Formats: sequence, C-alpha cells, structure tokens
Amino acid sequence: MTFAATVLTLYPEMFPGPLGVSLAGRALSEGKWALTPVQIRGFSTDKHRTVDDTPAGGGAGMVLRVDVLAAAIDHARELNPAAPVIAMTPRGKPITQARVRDLAAGPGVTILCGRFEGFDERIFKGRDVEEVSVGDIVLSGGEPAAIMLLDACIRLLPGVMGAASSGAEESFEDGLLEYPHYTRPVEWEGRTIPEVLRSGDHAKIAAWRQAKAEDDTRSRRPDLWGRRRDARVQSASGAQQNDEGPGT
Ligand code: SAH
Repeated sequence: MTFAATVLTLYPEMFPGPLGVSLAGRALSEGKWALTPVQIRGFSTDKHRTVDDTPAGGGAGMVLRVDVLAAAIDHARELNPAAPVIAMTPRGKPITQARVRDLAAGPGVTILCGRFEGFDERIFKGRDVEEVSVGDIVLSGGEPAAIMLLDACIRLLPGVMGAASSGAEESFEDGLLEYPHYTRPVEWEGRTIPEVLRSGDHAKIAAWRQAKAEDDTRSRRPDLWGRRRDARVQSASGAQQNDEGPGT
C-alpha cells in the first residue's frame, strides 16, 4: 500500500516543493508515497471562481467558503476514501510524533490548507475534519504546515530512512528529547567531546545518553517531562492512582 497524500490548496504549485528533494523526493520518485495537489478554486461554482467571502459579524480579512471546501473534500474522499482529512489551523490540536506515527501507518492523508483568515467553522463537523496545528505561531497559509506534516510522515514510511534504527531513538519517541550528538574533531575551539563517548564502553554510553535525555527534557521541556511522568505513574498504578507520583 502506498501512502497517498492529497493536498487541497489555493497554491498547488507549492507542491512537492521541498518534498521533491532529498529523502522525501527520492521516496516520491520511487513510488513509496504519492502526492496529488488539488486546486480548491476548481470547486468554486461562480464565474469569478470565488473561494472566499467576508467574515460574518464583520472584521478584517476573508474566510474560505464552506460549500467550496466541502466540494473539494468530497472529491478528495473519492480519491482516497480511507484517508483522514486534516485541516491545518493554529486553532487545532498541536501535532505530535505519536499522531505522525499513526498517520504514517495508514493509507495516507488529505490535508486542507487555509489562507486568509482561515476556514468557515462549519466545515469541521460537517465533513469530519480533524483540526491540527504545527505550533503556537501564525503562518500566512497552511501549505508550509502541510509540507511539515507530510515530511514527518514520509520519513517513517518503510524503506525511506537509511538506517532502520534511526527512528526509534529520536526525540519524542519515549516522551523525551533525544540526547545530544557530537562528531570529530574531538577538540574544537577548546570544547571537547564528552569523555564517556570516547570510552568505547557501550553500557556507560547508553546510561550517559539516557541521563542526558532526561536532564535536557526536564530543563528544556517541563511540559513533556510532566506528561511523561504522569503517563508512567498511570501505567505503574494500573491507572487507578491519580496523584502526582514520586516527582523528580
Ligand atoms: N485567522 C487565523 C489565522 C489564519 S492564518 C487565526 O488567527 O487562527 C492562514 C492559514 O494559515 C490558516 O487557515 C492555516 O491553514 C494556516 N496556518 C497558520 N498558522 C498555522 C499553524 N500554526 N498551524 C497550522 N496551520 C497554520
């Protein structure tokens, strides 16, 4: 089964863009995934090819029309009926590596890219659309967000990543940031590679990396650290206990 991505956009010329290069580009030309950009404007019904209108209640900007979006989504569902439909929006649920893994294991994804002020809210329930954000920032359009989401999925597809192991130890896989990396030269501007990494003692190296991953997650991402701790407390107590656990 090929992972099939359909991207609904006002700028189909932005695709494959960066996804046509390097790892994703090679995988695309090898048929390990497929990409169909679809012009939303093609589903407009008036002679001016209108896709947007002024916001109800007034205010700046324009809003993408629900009828046009629905027709575009219906078309995409015919192309790939089993694929979830995801709208890129800063109001959505922040994307996680766990969700990316789920998507990558499935038949593909249909991604709806917003522009202007975004979508008419009725589209989400009206067409069972999942709202996803790529972070607490505001982009000018959903296309870079779609490229980001697809890139994260594609690198996980079978046979896409070079070393088969390089997926498992990465940041977020165990609720932790990855440990830091070093390579030659051993000394650079007075800064050296940590001694333990040059010791050849694999057990010591693994322990150092685990400790670093935990320290860095705790100090850099208290949000991730807290979630991981909660999850561990839950699984240790068979989800019966809901106190804060032993803490750090
Ligand atoms: N008025 C909206 C922002 C619209 S930005 C608001 O304040 O919530 C225009 C489009 O860019 C959006 O419809 C969405 O598709 C995309 N976009 C902007 N920021 C994004 C983010 N953080 N994640 C995903 N998509 C985003």
